[in-house]
Amino acid sequence: MCAALLYALCPGAIQAAPKTLDIYFIDTEGGAATLIVTPAGESMLIDSGYPGERDAGRIERVAREIAGLRQIDHYITTHWHIDHVGGIGRLAQLIPVGNYYDHGFLDPLPPDVNKELMDAYRQASGDKSRAVKAGDEIKFSRRSGAPLRLRVIAAGGAVIGEKPGAPQIVPCGPDFKPEKEDTSDNARSIVFLLTYGGFKFFDGGDLTWNMEHKLTCPKNLAGAVDVFQVNHHGLDSSNHPALVTALKPRVAIINNGPRKGGQARTFATLKQSSAAEHIYQLHRNMQTTDADNAPPSHIANDAEDCKAEFIKLSVAANGKSYTVTVPGKGTTRTYQTK
Ligand SMILES: [Zn+2]
Repeated sequence: MCAALLYALCPGAIQAAPKTLDIYFIDTEGGAATLIVTPAGESMLIDSGYPGERDAGRIERVAREIAGLRQIDHYITTHWHIDHVGGIGRLAQLIPVGNYYDHGFLDPLPPDVNKELMDAYRQASGDKSRAVKAGDEIKFSRRSGAPLRLRVIAAGGAVIGEKPGAPQIVPCGPDFKPEKEDTSDNARSIVFLLTYGGFKFFDGGDLTWNMEHKLTCPKNLAGAVDVFQVNHHGLDSSNHPALVTALKPRVAIINNGPRKGGQARTFATLKQSSAAEHIYQLHRNMQTTDADNAPPSHIANDAEDCKAEFIKLSVAANGKSYTVTVPGKGTTRTYQTK
């Protein structure tokens, strides 16, 4: 029977298996670089690690050799700190990068934002970036199997429903305990929710305590999610228990470095949520004990002198399940979407 006839009789019989939505957590040793590849092959990179060859090279390698990309279609820098925007200038020389998104340029530049890195970003983007605000969507242009949506729920210091310039500290709820106002660019991080069918993924950049609380009260703006990229590399200045409780993540992934992030209080907060034993880390935290680290099978890199192993998340074509893989450890675990 010829292939054309077979296809006419039972369409799908000779089609390839449906593709997954893949998310790669690339090791930048305490920076951030999260690469999303849709089933249609459209790609989005969130943050680009530190400046120099190391992180740009690592991102390019995962993009080209592991994900099979020839370009990165969209790039979001959650905020302007060196460990998030640092790699884009070099990366854009290594692989074409399409659309650029950020929370807006700052004038005058605050002391925690580096002018050279900002200039490198503007040069890479050809000064054609889009500033997003809470409530915006960033659209993927190619259709995927299940409905795919990326919604910004905070940016520039405002959460959905607030105007730009809203106060950072908004008293709310019976146990409200604010921290000192965070004047750094962390508080302006782009925070988004990616949904694919029933699957939900939260990436909050380096959002800090007061802003995190605003996401939960008076309204729970994110809702419960399946996977939480732990805020701010797992530092204790972020990851307010109210947010972790509101997100109720089944899986938490910490993009920490060997001596940055993955701190004990955050680890304890995560363990109290439903994330429990489903915590994954890019690095073992060398500064805390085994009890404050995920099981070795869930840690991509054990030593400081590492091979930059990544963590991969694959969401089934129908969005009903997802698999976390730590390739360097041979660890694979599948979860049902909530
Ligand atoms: Zn950071």
